[in-house]
Amino acid sequence: MGKRFVFTCFLTFLWLASGCTLRAPSYRDNRYISTLPISITAVASLQPPSPTPVVNYDPAEDPTPTPQPPLLPPSTFAPDPLRFTFPTVAPDSISLWRPPLYPVPWEPSPYDHFYLTRPIGAQEVNWPLARYRYGYLLYAEPHTGIDIPAPKGTEILAAGPGVVIWAGYGIYFMRDENRDPYGIAVAIKHDFGFEGKSVYTVYGHMDQVFVYRGQRVESGQVLGLVGETGKVSGPHLHFEVRIGDNTFFVSRNPELWISPPQGMGVLVGRIMRNDGEKAPRVPVKLRSLEGKGNYEVLSYAQGAVNSDDYYNENLALGDLPAGRYEVFVDYEGVLYKGEIVIQAGQVTYITFRPKDGVASGVLPPPKSKFIPPDATATPIEMGMVHSP
Ligand SMILES: [Zn+2]
Repeated sequence: MGKRFVFTCFLTFLWLASGCTLRAPSYRDNRYISTLPISITAVASLQPPSPTPVVNYDPAEDPTPTPQPPLLPPSTFAPDPLRFTFPTVAPDSISLWRPPLYPVPWEPSPYDHFYLTRPIGAQEVNWPLARYRYGYLLYAEPHTGIDIPAPKGTEILAAGPGVVIWAGYGIYFMRDENRDPYGIAVAIKHDFGFEGKSVYTVYGHMDQVFVYRGQRVESGQVLGLVGETGKVSGPHLHFEVRIGDNTFFVSRNPELWISPPQGMGVLVGRIMRNDGEKAPRVPVKLRSLEGKGNYEVLSYAQGAVNSDDYYNENLALGDLPAGRYEVFVDYEGVLYKGEIVIQAGQVTYITFRPKDGVASGVLPPPKSKFIPPDATATPIEMGMVHSP
């Protein structure tokens, strides 16, 4: 027990040292066999999830992912059909290469809004670090953006066309303040809006800025270089999407705004308690049934994070290769199992309640506020309007 504790502490240290200074999500250690009546499937794992990333992100650091030993020896588990060991220790099979993105604006349904390109070029790792997704706890606050791991000096690209409305220190406090947690940052107000609201993107922790306030930028234009200014423990890009205003409190999950790579889709979920309220920080795990890897994501923590107006989600996970997956919701020590299909270029929607299990299906019908306003009102704010 003592050895395992020390080992876990060591892994947690490695984990914290590898990215930005995000508080590590805490997992429960104790699992048990469910005796609850469960409508879908509930299975339990006696094995704590591995605290090491399931997906390998840095080809330079680890070009050949190797299987890691389980934290508990397999012989610990008696044969029992109710018990399930999630294969977090399986060899990673995730390619570090990403195909080109779907062209923006990518709107496979009237309510999707993949309007943005990636703020890091395709020649680099340009997808979110798994441990620092939107809604994960960072200090006492949930993370309001995604972190993309990139070496210092990597070019940061505008995720869409617009006007630079902030460049330099102080975007959090909205004054020139070099103790700002975002460090040197750029904010862009984009040419397009959504549902009558302006769309902004924010790029934090930069080393250098090449643009100035008031400057027009085009999609893909270099804004500056990746750095480690502000509250960080290492270089990376903090990327944020804000809707309606350029403030910390109106962020949305960028994974619902940046176009997926071709052949990949996005999981969007609503993980609830039995009373229908959103359940925070619930681990959800995916296992490809076609050998395309294992993935983990947590539902959003409570605090200054916001759900999409339509999806009303508290979980999103992008860059999933299309195909069939088993999905496991790790709710209060019980694993609930379902099966989903990730469609290329599309959102797959799941809901979960302990009493209902995992359900996949159609998005709820839109609320009245999603009926687009009269298109003759203010065209620049109506849906997606790109400048030529
Ligand atoms: Zn961040």
